[in-house]
This record gives sequence, C-alpha cells and structure tokens, in this order.
Amino acid sequence: KNPYLSPFNEMQRFKTHPAIKAYLEGGRRVAYGARALVEGGFQSQPKLTFPGGVLIGDTAGFLNVPKIKGNHMAMKSGMLAAEALAPFLQAGGEARECVAYQTGYENSWAYKELYKVRNIRPGFNWGLLFGIIHAGFQTIGGWMLPYTLKNHADYKQLNKAKDSVKIDYPKPDGVLTFDRLTSVQLSNTMHEEDQPSHLKLKDPSIPVSVNLPEWAEPAQRYCPAAVYEIVEEMGAKKFVINAQNCVHCKTCDIKDPSQNIDWTVPQGGGGPNYPNM
Ligand SMILES: Cc1cc2nc3c(=O)[nH]c(=O)nc-3n(C[C@H](O)[C@H](O)[C@H](O)COP(=O)(O)OP(=O)(O)OC[C@H]3O[C@@H](n4cnc5c(N)ncnc54)[C@H](O)[C@@H]3O)c2cc1C
Ligand code: SF4
Repeated sequence: KNPYLSPFNEMQRFKTHPAIKAYLEGGRRVAYGARALVEGGFQSQPKLTFPGGVLIGDTAGFLNVPKIKGNHMAMKSGMLAAEALAPFLQAGGEARECVAYQTGYENSWAYKELYKVRNIRPGFNWGLLFGIIHAGFQTIGGWMLPYTLKNHADYKQLNKAKDSVKIDYPKPDGVLTFDRLTSVQLSNTMHEEDQPSHLKLKDPSIPVSVNLPEWAEPAQRYCPAAVYEIVEEMGAKKFVINAQNCVHCKTCDIKDPSQNIDWTVPQGGGGPNYPNM
C-alpha cells in the first residue's frame, strides 16, 4: 500500500535479520531473478477457450496460490487441452472453438484442487492473523462452505504519497546486500538492440503529470530491475524507461496505479536467462 515501498530493498533488509543473516554469511551472490505471482486463482480464471486457441498454465491462472505450486497445474492443463484438441481436430468440421477442454477441466482433479484453496489468499486481505486462522479453517474443511471471497485489483491498493511514510533504505554493503543494477547483470538479461521499447505507455504524460504527484511515481521502486526512472532535464522532470534491463516480471503491467503501462513481448525472444534457477 505504501508507494515508497521497494520490494527489492525489503528483500535486502530481510537478509540482514540476524536469523537469516546467519545462513547467508560467507556465501556468494550467484543469480538474480524476479517474477510476479499469478495470484487470482480459481475465481479469477477466464474462459479457457476462444476461436482458434486455448489458455493453459499460468496465463489462465492455474497456479495453486497458497502452495505457490504451478508446474503440475501447467502440465495438467496442457494435457487436458491436448486430450480435448486431438479428437476436435480429427473430427474436422466448421467449429473453431474447442469447448470440450473447458468441460474436461471442470471434471478434473485440477479444478477441485483450485476450488479447495480458492479462499485462502483473499482471506489475508483482512490481515495476517485473520488470514492464518481462516487459512487453517479452509484447509480442515471450510472450503466446502458455499462462499467464494473476491480478489482485489493490485493497482487500486496504493495509498497516496501525501498520506504515506517515506522509507529510507540503507545503502547496500556489496557483501550481504546489493543494488538492483549489479543484480540484473546476474539475470543474463539480453534484448536485441535498437528495437522499439516493449514497455508501452498508453499516455506518455501520465508518469510525470499524475503518478509523480499522486504516488511519487512508484514504478521507480516496485520494478526489480530499475527500469523506470524520473530524471531532471533542463529543470523539467522526465520519465525514462531503460527497457533493456527488464527481467519480464510483469509487475509494472499489474501495479501501475494509472494502468498506463502495457508490457508487450520484446522482439527476438529476448529477456532474462535463468540457468541456475
Ligand atoms: C517465485 C516463484 C516460485 C515458484 N515456485 C514454484 C515451485 O516451487 N513449484 C511449482 O510447481 N511452481 C512454482 N512456481 C509457479 C511456476 O513457476 C508456474 O506456475 C509455472 O512455471 C507456469 O508454467 P507455464 O508454462 O504456464 O508458464 P511459464 O513458466 O511462465 O512459461 C511461459 C513461457 O512463455 C514464454 N513466452 C511468453 N510470451 C511469449 C511469446 N509471445 N512468444 C514466445 N514465448 C513467450 C515465456 O518467456 C515463458 O518462458 C513459482 C513461481 C514463482 C514466480
Ligand atoms: S519493467 Fe516491468 S516487467 Fe520489466 S522488470 Fe520492471 S516491473 Fe518487471
């Protein structure tokens, strides 16, 4: 909620807690990456089929959110899609939408698994203590009760800068804590040079005219790769996008309070390369 919060710097601070530091001391930074979780779950899933295509895996919200497990669901949804598509294609005909995939999913263990955990994540919207108690209740059978909590849109959650406390993060020591730019180097992020920015602004004036006065332009802090900067040029504020650093976490597309940033696929299959993660 605090627009001054930097998830990257919170992580650095977390590492300095004595209980965590003890495990990290003497270690070496070997890799870096970031990715937003697809947290919507069961009640945020879209219709899975459309003429000429189907949605599987994370793109259709198949993540089991409380467990942060999605590989098995991505595989299962792919299998269900294949099982529906094979007879659909063999039959030929005029139909363009493979609706049998949706039915197959609704009759599968994957559907039941997501249904059972649907209320756990939104339960935390009422606070940590309630969330933990409610999660326990849901797990021991509360999921059978006929209610489904709603999710909230992340981009609507930020408080205004004038109502928020600024956070001063300590400088990185280069041993236990690090800065974003040297961390991004370890993500092996590559983008073809001279391509148009894959981070599109619907209205280029909004970062400086709206986001800066209202939320101190939070993109400067929530982006884990320091892609977004506000700089001053000849006395005027300017929003700079260092698109080549983008590690494809998709946070900006989700979190921008004005919903002005559109993450698109870069040319040439560029992006981070996580060989050890
Ligand atoms: C921090 C974190 C920890 C996790 N831990 C676990 C765990 O321990 N166990 C577990 O089971 N799950 C875990 N998950 C979830 C799991 O990673 C995902 O649910 C799973 O990877 C989803 O698989 P997917 O194939 O649907 O999507 P992805 O793995 O995201 O694959 C989609 C691929 O498509 C590519 N792509 C996107 N657009 C295009 C395009 N236009 N053209 C070509 N390629 C494109 C992307 O680069 C990407 O490689 C974790 C997730 C996160 C973020
Ligand atoms: S630009 Fe957006 S998608 Fe890329 S690293 Fe920053 S927040 Fe993530």
